[in-house]
Amino acid sequence: MTTFDYAPALESRSIVTIDSSYGHFINGVFVEGKNHFASINPSNEEVLSQISLAGSDDINRAVSAARVAYEATWSKMPGKERGKYLYRIARIMQERAREFAVLETLDNGKPIRESRDVDVPLAAAHFFYHAGWADKLDYVGVGHSPRPHGVAGQIIPWNFPLLMLAWKVAPALAAGNTVVLKPAESTSLTALLFAQVCQQAELPAGVVNIVTGDGSSGALLVNHPGVDKIAFTGSTEVGKAIARAIAPTKKKATLELGGKAANIVFDDAPIDETVEGIVNGIFFNQGHVCCAGSRLLLQENIAEQTIEALKVRMAKIRVGNPLDKNTDLGAINSSEQLGKIQSLSATGDQEGAQRWSPECVLPEKGYWFPPTIFTGVTQAHRIAREEIFGPVLSVLTFRTPAEAIEKANNTPYGLSAGIWSEKGSRILWAAQQLRAGVIWANTFNKFEPASPFGGYKESGWGREGGRHGLAAYLTSDENGDN
Ligand code: NAP
Ligand code: MG
Repeated sequence: MTTFDYAPALESRSIVTIDSSYGHFINGVFVEGKNHFASINPSNEEVLSQISLAGSDDINRAVSAARVAYEATWSKMPGKERGKYLYRIARIMQERAREFAVLETLDNGKPIRESRDVDVPLAAAHFFYHAGWADKLDYVGVGHSPRPHGVAGQIIPWNFPLLMLAWKVAPALAAGNTVVLKPAESTSLTALLFAQVCQQAELPAGVVNIVTGDGSSGALLVNHPGVDKIAFTGSTEVGKAIARAIAPTKKKATLELGGKAANIVFDDAPIDETVEGIVNGIFFNQGHVCCAGSRLLLQENIAEQTIEALKVRMAKIRVGNPLDKNTDLGAINSSEQLGKIQSLSATGDQEGAQRWSPECVLPEKGYWFPPTIFTGVTQAHRIAREEIFGPVLSVLTFRTPAEAIEKANNTPYGLSAGIWSEKGSRILWAAQQLRAGVIWANTFNKFEPASPFGGYKESGWGREGGRHGLAAYLTSDENGDN
């Protein structure tokens, strides 16, 4: 078999300017923070910048700025005018796409190919999509002349930093809410670049405020009495804490939480395409994907040949420098996340599953984990039940379609699922039985702003994207809210 060596094809980082430290973005300007923490490049542990840690004074100022902007400007502005700002932001994001992509890759560790071709274009697409809704809110489906909630407190994770910001900020602004957003501790830099885009777009001061910090800053935002709606993406554990914290209040909330998706392969599936889909399902973004296809369910009579084909394909995954345009699998986002992946994988060994990874040389510095599969996994194993959130696939088998569905639904989560089969009738049958918010057939990990995304059970409350996602930022007398 011929193999190809790839010469390095490094994307230049010269397009990006990173300040040595950043303050918070409040009321249209950057203000110094008191305490700082480092944001690092997880592929080589280089300190990129010092980020401010928001305390209660910072959160108070940001929420007040958002309130004033809401009452004085943004909620009063005709939707058509708000839409113009969203279009302007979307166009600037496109113009500065390479800058965003390089910065995201430096701060997060994801391959430049993904930040360039997925994260950044999709983030811009969310702004374009919602810009179109801003003057058509009567047609969202929440009643006539719907109203925004007020100030939205938004908290996002580190796996798709800019994209999660876009999922949160674009619908909030289109609906007429103002925003205080807290990015994840390890990935604040593209949110801070987005703040500069807001300035460039001359967005009225206070409409978007970005406060950086850790979980304590997030909790201050959740508990602030001046916040009307919480939008959170992150772990189920923190999601539950937020639900408890807001239970005695009138705050609205959407929670996008974890997942442990089944990717089901029936024996009539085309094997090569399926193997590509399995790889995309679990190794895209290092497996740091809430809807990752992390439980592969193979029909027993094709299990062996599928696993063999998967191993051949996995041996071709290129792991390494995220700025290299040939790289498929980048760095794990933090040492903390690497530790979680290592310890959960160790339980797979202890509980008797068989681990396999292709030979690959991992860089010496930074946080790395090779693409890994576990075979011989049963439903009782922790690696079949708990979210690993890394490049680790648990492989189970089934004999009948009914058994596949039963195993797929045997999880506290219900975010996504995949079905591989040549037969349309079988796909539709399976899709109807699966308790998951998003179901892909003969593909995986496809996202689109018009398509609502969200989960069942412990995967969260509500939907983001599409008309459903926008409705969560609106209320009307007709639907009996407020
Ligand atoms: P996480 O610990 O829940 O953190 C998410 C965000 O919440 C971060 O900004 C975090 O700040 C903040 N936070 C932490 N504790 C908080 C608290 N008590 N109150 C308010 N905010 C708090 O989750 P993660 O480990 O970063 O992300 C991985 C998890 O997110 C996975 O379980 C994954 O499935 C889930 N996720 C879900 C989706 C979805 O759409 N359903 C998308 C992506 C990720 P710090 O970063 O500073 O700790
Ligand atoms: Mg970082």
